[in-house]
Amino acid sequence: MKRLLESVLEFRRNDQATFRERYAHLAQGQSPSAMLLACADSRLVSHLVAGYEPGELFVVRNAGNLAPRYEEAVADSSVAAAVAFGVEYLGIAHIVVCGHSSCGAMQALLNGRDQLDDPSLKAWLRHGDEALERLRNAEREVAADTLARENILLQMEHLRAHPPVQKHGVRVHGLYFELHSAEIYVYDPAAATFVVLDESQVQRLTES
Ligand SMILES: [Zn+2]
Repeated sequence: MKRLLESVLEFRRNDQATFRERYAHLAQGQSPSAMLLACADSRLVSHLVAGYEPGELFVVRNAGNLAPRYEEAVADSSVAAAVAFGVEYLGIAHIVVCGHSSCGAMQALLNGRDQLDDPSLKAWLRHGDEALERLRNAEREVAADTLARENILLQMEHLRAHPPVQKHGVRVHGLYFELHSAEIYVYDPAAATFVVLDESQVQRLTES
């Protein structure tokens, strides 16, 4: 907590003046180019988005980078509400689901949700159940990192079925962050696998 509060002081000391004009402009509205749905894991993402300026990226984070399927959106409406707001009101055209290796949520899912004491976590992780089922149907032994990648694909499917995403033709992408190597992979639909993100992938995935 001290670190968090100190960073607020640091911002005031070093950056507030630089950003004041920008924030004054942003106070009138935002038009981020993309939405990022990422795992809440502390090891993930913050450095990936470090290059973004305020107002450029709409971010939702939760345990396991899960997006409940639209039919369940009334029970777990947080992500659906963010998608609706981001797409309908902010004009977001791309949504990126970002998962990672060594994910605690994926490990918990793999160990069995029934083992969890906390009722909210036990219930929340059900949105990843289908990824585990698919892998168990295809493979004898499932590793947590394989599940993390399958889960990204499942959540992309869930998001693509949300009405605002369909209505506005929003493009949904998948990123996988491998902690051991600090390498970032992107899902390549043509190759049906995750590949190292490079310039050509960026070009391919963002061209209209
Ligand atoms: Zn995680």
